[in-house]
Parts: sequence; C-alpha cells; structure tokens
Amino acid sequence: MTKINVNDMLTSYDKKNLTIATVCSHSSLQIFNGAKKEGFKTLGISVGEQKKIYDAFPLGKPDDFFVVDSYKDIVKYAGELQEKNVIVIPHGSFVEYLGAEKFLTLNLPTFGNRNVLIWESDRNKERIWLEGADLTMPQEIKDPRDIDKPVIVKYHGAKGGKGFFIAKTYDEFLKRVKKNKSYSIQEFVLGTRYYIHYFYSPIQDNAYKLSKGSLQLLSMDRRDETTIDEVQRLGSIQELEELGIHPTFVVTGNIPIVIRESLLPKVFKMGEAVVEKSLELFGGVIGSFCLESVVTENLEFKVFEISARIVAGTNPYISGSPYSEFIQPDLSTGRRIAQEIKYATKQKVLDKILT
Ligand code: ATP
Repeated sequence: MTKINVNDMLTSYDKKNLTIATVCSHSSLQIFNGAKKEGFKTLGISVGEQKKIYDAFPLGKPDDFFVVDSYKDIVKYAGELQEKNVIVIPHGSFVEYLGAEKFLTLNLPTFGNRNVLIWESDRNKERIWLEGADLTMPQEIKDPRDIDKPVIVKYHGAKGGKGFFIAKTYDEFLKRVKKNKSYSIQEFVLGTRYYIHYFYSPIQDNAYKLSKGSLQLLSMDRRDETTIDEVQRLGSIQELEELGIHPTFVVTGNIPIVIRESLLPKVFKMGEAVVEKSLELFGGVIGSFCLESVVTENLEFKVFEISARIVAGTNPYISGSPYSEFIQPDLSTGRRIAQEIKYATKQKVLDKILT
C-alpha cells in the first residue's frame, strides 16, 4: 500500500493554479486537450526530442514541457514538480516507464487510487477481485498437461500481448513455451472483443448510482493486434502454423466500436460489481478503468483483464463517443478526468480522488 499522504502534499498547493501533468505518450494528447478545455495549465513530461510531435497538434500540446533523461528520474524531481502544483494523470505507459515500485512511492498527487496497482498487476489478486465481483473470467489451466482445448499462454509482466501464443494441445504448448519465463494459461475464449471504458466518481451522484458515488460508461474500443487480426489475409492459421508462422498479439492501435444496446444493462452491472468489490478490497478503483472482455455466442461476457486507469482505447473519442455524447457533447475521458479534478477542487474533496 502506498504510504504517501496526499493531504500533506496538497497543503502547499495553490489550488487556483493546478497543473495537470502526464508523460508524453499513450493518451497524453487527449489528457492535455481535455485539461485545457477545463481551464487547467498542462505540463508534458518528456524524454529528449519526443516533444517535437506536439508542435503538429497545437490543441493537444501541453503549455510546458519538463524534460528528463529517463522517466525513472521523475521521482527525483517530485519536489520541483510540486512547486508547479502538479497533479499527475497516470496512464499505462506512465506506470510502465516508471516501474510499479517507483510509481507507488512517487511524491506527487496522483489521480485515482494507486493501491489498485497491487490488485491489478498480480494475476491471482486480479482474479480474486473480478471473480469476487461475480464476473466470469476465462478458465485457468493450472497444469499444461490438462490442455484439451485452445488456450492462450500469457507471460507475466509482458505488456501489450508481447510473446503470447495460442496452443491447442500439450505438445504444441511444449514446442512454443519459454521455460525460463513465468506464465499463466487461460482458455482461449471464442467470441467478439469489447474493451469497455468506465468512469467511477466516488464524489458525484449524477450518473448510474452505486452505494457510494456513481458510474459512467464513456466509450468502448476493440484493439487492433498484430499479427492475429490480419493473419487470415495470408491463409488459415493452421496452414501458417505448419509453415512455422505463429500469430502474435502485439497492440498496434484501437478501433471504435459500440455494443448492441440490449447488452448495456449487463455492461453496467459488471462495472457496478467491480467498483463495489474494489471499495471493499482496497478503497475503490477511482476514475477511469477498462474491462477487457470477450462476448461469446451465448451473449455471455468473459472478462480477461482489467486496466485501472485511462486506456489508449479512449483515443478515438477525443470529441466524444456514441455514449459520452449522451452525457455531454465533446466529452473525452481526458476531459472527464479534468472535470473530476475541477469539481473536487471546488468542493474541497481532492483527497477523495487523488492518492
Ligand atoms: P495489457 O496489459 O496491455 O492489457 P496484456 O499484455 O496484459 O495487455 P491481455 O490484455 O491479457 O495482455 O491479452 C492480450 C490480447 O490477447 C487481448 O487483447 C486479446 O486479444 C487476447 N486475449 C487475452 N486473453 C484472451 C482469452 N482468454 N481468450 C481470447 N483472447 C484473449
């Protein structure tokens, strides 16, 4: 658990002059754009020349840059960043570049509940959380000798699906597995993928009501993954595997999508259960989170992963999605985060949404 006391950090802050900061990658254009729309100053933390691309996107460019030699150095500059009244918006790359340990001890007010990382990054704990919320997850195969249907083998700590592979038999598993790495084996769920983007506010009651606060559905996407999503252009997977060409799951982009409207009650029930369980386990998954699911032909959701912060799948929706348009025009997830910080500042409850 993080020992950081957000109230201690906030006492020295000029609340009329807050700066929204994030690492220049992932969903940063959207985060800066949304923060500017809500009247915040913005700061991009970047390494080297990476900031050059922001000149091409003036409305997504932060007001200032804070250039570091390595992202891991951010920890060293926390004092300097505090003087700029910085509130950090973590995204997937932010946490990955910094490393979980450094992220948990970073001495800067951070949007969301950092303790969620402990529950999200350990596949066993993640299962306790999601199955504890009555979500159906893909079956886990503990012993590879029990493989009797297609499975996906996931290496621990692999990001963006790197190195994952499909096996249909124990023999196939043995041929492909890298024994020196730890892995888990899951049933490969056949169906269509939906990556659902929620926003949970513990401090506002104006959406789908929960025991505390309320829940919004902001958007959903499908990830574009190479080579699995295009491999059929060359031949059937079986044909290719015989030639030694194996499909991979590396994320290269995101495709906007909507789900049939009759499934929305299930979508909200899942989001609700995940938040309620998180309140019980670690004080709540605050702000943006994403359930990564496969919908089967029986219209059952199988959730294989949760990401507990803004996901890059929200990037197609910088001026709103087919769901957020029913909340407010022009509402991206980045902007929604900025609104939450603005509201909490006004109500003097920043400590309820920052850690
Ligand atoms: P990230 O942390 O970026 O979300 P990851 O590396 O933890 O990704 P997963 O999201 O678990 O990896 O899986 C990568 C991809 O593999 C998914 O986007 C999906 O296409 C596919 N996948 C994962 N689990 C299953 C499953 N049980 N059945 C079918 N496909 C799956």
